[in-house]
Amino acid sequence: MTFETNLPVRTHFFDTKIEFLKGVGPQKAALLNQELGIFTFGDLIQHYPFRHEDRTVFHRINGLNEQLAAAQIKGRLREWSTVGEGGKKRLVAYFTDGTGILELVWFQGIAWFEKNLRANTEYIVYGKPVAFGGRWSITHPEIDLITAENESGGYWQPVYPLTEKLRKKFLDSRGLSRMIRNLLEISRSHIRETLPASLVQKYRLVSKADALWNFHLPQSHQWLHQAQRRLKFEELFYNQFRLIKNKLLHKTEYPGLIFNHTDLVKEFYANHLPFTLTNAQIRVLHEIHEDLKTGKQMNRLLQGDVGSGKTIVAFITMLFALSNDAQACLMAPTEILTDQHFQGLRKFADVLGVNIGKLTGSTKKREREIIHKQLLDGSMQIIVGTHALIEDIVQFRNLGLCVIDEQHRFGVAQRAKLWAKNSRINPHMLVMTATPIPRTLAMTLYGDLDISAINELPAGRKPIKTVHRYDAHRSSVFGFLKEEIAKGRQVYMVYPLIEESEKMDLKDLMDGYESVSRSFPDVPLSILHGKMKSQDKDYEMGRFVRGETKIMVATTVIEVGVNVPNASVMVIENAERFGLSQLHQLRGRVGRGAEQSYCVLITDYKISKETKLRIETMCRTNDGFEIAEVDLQLRGPGDITGTQQSGLMDLLVSNLAQDGEILKAARISAEEILTADPDLLQPVNHPIRIHLENLRKEETNWSRIS
Ligand code: ADP
Ligand code: MG
Repeated sequence: MTFETNLPVRTHFFDTKIEFLKGVGPQKAALLNQELGIFTFGDLIQHYPFRHEDRTVFHRINGLNEQLAAAQIKGRLREWSTVGEGGKKRLVAYFTDGTGILELVWFQGIAWFEKNLRANTEYIVYGKPVAFGGRWSITHPEIDLITAENESGGYWQPVYPLTEKLRKKFLDSRGLSRMIRNLLEISRSHIRETLPASLVQKYRLVSKADALWNFHLPQSHQWLHQAQRRLKFEELFYNQFRLIKNKLLHKTEYPGLIFNHTDLVKEFYANHLPFTLTNAQIRVLHEIHEDLKTGKQMNRLLQGDVGSGKTIVAFITMLFALSNDAQACLMAPTEILTDQHFQGLRKFADVLGVNIGKLTGSTKKREREIIHKQLLDGSMQIIVGTHALIEDIVQFRNLGLCVIDEQHRFGVAQRAKLWAKNSRINPHMLVMTATPIPRTLAMTLYGDLDISAINELPAGRKPIKTVHRYDAHRSSVFGFLKEEIAKGRQVYMVYPLIEESEKMDLKDLMDGYESVSRSFPDVPLSILHGKMKSQDKDYEMGRFVRGETKIMVATTVIEVGVNVPNASVMVIENAERFGLSQLHQLRGRVGRGAEQSYCVLITDYKISKETKLRIETMCRTNDGFEIAEVDLQLRGPGDITGTQQSGLMDLLVSNLAQDGEILKAARISAEEILTADPDLLQPVNHPIRIHLENLRKEETNWSRIS
């Protein structure tokens, strides 16, 4: 299946070099190349504004109010003077439109403005008005002489991504906007529709040409909105189209190992299962087993909240492989996580007499050699490891299943390297996320995978009670801890540790430790932080796990890798410094036993609105899927995935925090088209073929440049 057309290579209008555009000389072209990566007409027309300023109306000074994010005012500049000294020095100009006085204030560029402003001259100013001592003022307003272009208002000013250097060379949004207007003027006959007419009609989209015009130079707010909607739809449609195409390719073209023997699964199920599986675990295992029987390669994402029991699902999936004379591996992003998985899986493996090993960067040479040998001759059936697993030297006799614990840290490239570990038939792939991720993110980051979700916690778990307390209430929190410890429970106290301020944080931790030991003189304590030697860590951890110590004072290193069912309280100090998903992860360390568990979030008295929302969300719900959605709204998609290679960076106009509905429609459309016409042979789908080819060409250009 291929979309290649046999068109001869020819230069398209949009491949024209940017210096050939009216108003762009070689100098400006060089700047655009360097600063914005704009080389061609196509690059420029896709340099989209990130917002638009409302320049449709002029405000009156006596009609200003503090609610306005910004206002445009036409009037006369009277006079100005500098006031203040040193760092406080500023230029204040008086501006009037006949209804009142507006002060324009500059802290920077004073000399330039003193030289260039003209007294008693008409200007248009734009900025955020603030009332101060009965006077309106705007700090660092935009200020322009009145021209034929701007005098009647009535337009939306696009604001483009720019760099400091471009601004210094006076290439601002206005300048860029003029260039793009020139380009749009000469592009009229060259802009091609990139979506099939059927979709344009069904979703009432404006044409590609109208969208480009109105995104750069909106005729009205409605047009701007329609232009955005159209460009978002297109972007998400092609994003989904390619993911789904990939998914179907794996489903239809690549053979998969057939696992129809189930001896070890049955043996484990009948004799060694340590608990009853939840309905959700059983459902997910069925979904997986269906994949493994088909003869097609499985590519499945396993989502589930902290504590929902993903490990046992991964293990039973491995047993399907082992029952069919194939090996399994599990790859995790860090040594601690690898260790946790190894400990968890070994317990299950041992009872079956399954040979399981662990391979990380710190595995000793001799041990490493034994592992390599055993993987190659097949006597080692399961290997758990870090990215050390993907090194070429690690070879298997018959790798049948890869489980990847993602935490959004591995890219598609690494997945592909694992596939290649079995050159005969690619192994099946099960990708696990540490915590749930929002639906829109799952659809884009993992859109090429099938998705299974464990949406139920094991029976008998009592929901964790979460409360918010201020620093000042610490003594009452400590009182509560004493009661819990008296009942035989154990407690975590976690302090933030953020790399840039590691020293400071370590001090916080040590101070915290001292204060805890003063308040709990008779209670044995453990301490754990990243700077400790690993044997000391193990020692401290061991004492806490065995219940010899009652309070674990720690940094976030305990976020992963700890499972102590007897621990019933999680106290998080400086909770304002943690992100939502991290708070949720930490909270997941308790509530693992049958007792009622608690999470206490301690913050400073003064917290921001956003922190408040995070804390409130934690107190309101234990549902990781719901928390992930709030996190997405608060932080935006980029910060959540925290990775460049995620593919989200390709989204120029869409925002996954807001565009869920458009994404859904785009995905359904892509699925429908690929199902009905996988090779895009129908004439109506012709625009898709052509656009895919252009996208591919653009990408090859990109990889050459960067
Ligand atoms: P996660 O999904 O966070 O990786 P784990 O697989 O570590 O969760 O499971 C959390 C804990 O719950 C473990 O101690 C595990 O043994 C236990 N567990 C898993 N499934 C069940 C179940 N169906 N019933 C009872 N306990 C379970
Ligand atoms: Mg886990």
